[in-house]
Amino acid sequence: MAYDSDNVFAKILRGEIPSDFIYEDAYVVAFYDIRPKAPTHVLVVPKKAYTDLNDFMQKADADEVYHVMQDVTKVAAQLDVVKAGYRVVVNVGAGAGQEVPHLHFHILSNKEA
Ligand code: 5GP
Repeated sequence: MAYDSDNVFAKILRGEIPSDFIYEDAYVVAFYDIRPKAPTHVLVVPKKAYTDLNDFMQKADADEVYHVMQDVTKVAAQLDVVKAGYRVVVNVGAGAGQEVPHLHFHILSNKEA
């Protein structure tokens, strides 16, 4: 699937749709999901244009994969959900429920951040 730069997360990353980032560094931004499915539901979104996890693993170098995954754990720590526990969900493909065709990691916890 070719990357479609009209997707909503690309627009958020370009600042065309306002969004409150709770975390940002060279690799990712993170913000609350607009339709939370748990008491804490945050999305960690890589800045570079990857459609999904398969695309990421085919194109990103080991350094970027390391930093993006480290950032998922950093955001979970910032949300203070590590002790309570959290899930990381990555939907790959429309058949799995991927709605936005830009790679993102859901952080879900039953503890309110
Ligand atoms: P997917 O189904 O692609 O894995 O997850 C996409 C997620 O993005 C959904 O949980 C949906 O609620 C969230 N979402 C869609 N549009 C927006 C938006 O404009 N802002 C925010 N914050 N979340 C969005």
